[in-house]
Amino acid sequence: MTETNLAESYDVVVVGGGPAGLTSALYTTRLGHDTAVIDRGGGRAAMMLDTHNVVGVPETVSGNEFLQTAVEQVQAYGADYVRGTVTDVERATRSATTTDEDENENENENEDGEGNDTLFRVESTAGEVTARRVVLSTGFTDVRPDPPLPRTGRGLHWCLHCDAYMFVDEPVYVMGHSDAVAHVTTIMLNFTSDVDLLLNGDEPTWSDETAELLDAHPVDVVEAEVTGKYPDPEDSEWLGGFEFADGTERDYRGGFAMYGSDYNNDLAAALGCELNDDGTVAVDDHGHTSVDGVYAVGDLTRGHNQIPVAMGEGAKTGIDLHMSASGHAPTRSPRSRPRRTTDHRCRSRSSTASSRSRGGVVVPARLTPTYTRHQSS
Ligand SMILES: Cc1cc2nc3c(=O)[nH]c(=O)nc-3n(C[C@H](O)[C@H](O)[C@H](O)COP(=O)(O)OP(=O)(O)OC[C@H]3O[C@@H](n4cnc5c(N)ncnc54)[C@H](O)[C@@H]3O)c2cc1C
Repeated sequence: MTETNLAESYDVVVVGGGPAGLTSALYTTRLGHDTAVIDRGGGRAAMMLDTHNVVGVPETVSGNEFLQTAVEQVQAYGADYVRGTVTDVERATRSATTTDEDENENENENEDGEGNDTLFRVESTAGEVTARRVVLSTGFTDVRPDPPLPRTGRGLHWCLHCDAYMFVDEPVYVMGHSDAVAHVTTIMLNFTSDVDLLLNGDEPTWSDETAELLDAHPVDVVEAEVTGKYPDPEDSEWLGGFEFADGTERDYRGGFAMYGSDYNNDLAAALGCELNDDGTVAVDDHGHTSVDGVYAVGDLTRGHNQIPVAMGEGAKTGIDLHMSASGHAPTRSPRSRPRRTTDHRCRSRSSTASSRSRGGVVVPARLTPTYTRHQSS
């Protein structure tokens, strides 16, 4: 994948280049809004060895192949994609970035729009840019138990909806000590009758009700710590089973680790976005957070953690970004056809006809809106 350099300012900056963020970027770019994606890489989609539940995508496609195609798609339409970690996003007040002359201009421009000149300063290891709107699609990190652990996708799995199907009639473990692990254990009984719950040396924290539920199901609860693992004798890539501190061994094809999710919500929290109790970012149906001009999509928000869901949210937000901002209409005509991906190093938007400088910050010019909010797409 060819990376591009960042320009000084964008209509939309997407933080995080997983399926959710890249979908938002594809929509905003194709609807004519200058868009950059800043992505540190290595998110949940990148962990996939194969792709399930995404119609039209062959199951053999890896997460990295999936993402590479997506990056090339958004780049082909003109979005900038850079590798980098966003370290801070803050509102850049107009008074700090505009001259008096610009201020007067803005007043006129603002007659028909609310908050149209919202600007954010986005700091990243790839550089600093300004953005009218920010999409946070930073996902979460699965909390991992201590090793020894099998390879992700070859005996260690994080996504029930994606991978439970591959364990039909196979011996399976579910590792953890919370209510969630007990819940997943009972779900797995729909796929196979051979399910163990591995406490891995921890005390259970589940409720009395959950304990009763477990008692009512044919599940072995193994208390001993996992001390080792061995491969499948017929396929050394795959797990064969675990060794336990009490000297026992149990064969498994694979299983799930249930230790919770560490949401990458620092930027949202610093911006003042409302968070839900579980650490997800609170959003409405279109991905608006509680902060004007800031959207959140994908695994960072509440809901099913699946690629089609993340892409659907990304699409809704991309369209809403276009439709809802009456003063945020395209800064350029969408390209009539995708261009080839090229390296745009040293490019600057400050010289384009549709941009002008406001107190040193280059802001794209506003055009007449092409949609109203209620028009169907
Ligand atoms: C092993 C595994 C297998 C899976 N298999 C499937 C499957 O087969 N089918 C399916 O539908 N779902 C699957 N899922 C779930 C799916 O991967 C997620 O639901 C999906 O990737 C969510 O997309 P996202 O864009 O919200 O987040 P992610 O894919 O996690 O992308 C978030 C991106 O944001 C970046 N980021 C985070 N913080 C910053 C920052 N500060 N600055 C810049 N970038 C940042 C991350 O590096 C990452 O690139 C699987 C998940 C796992 C873990």
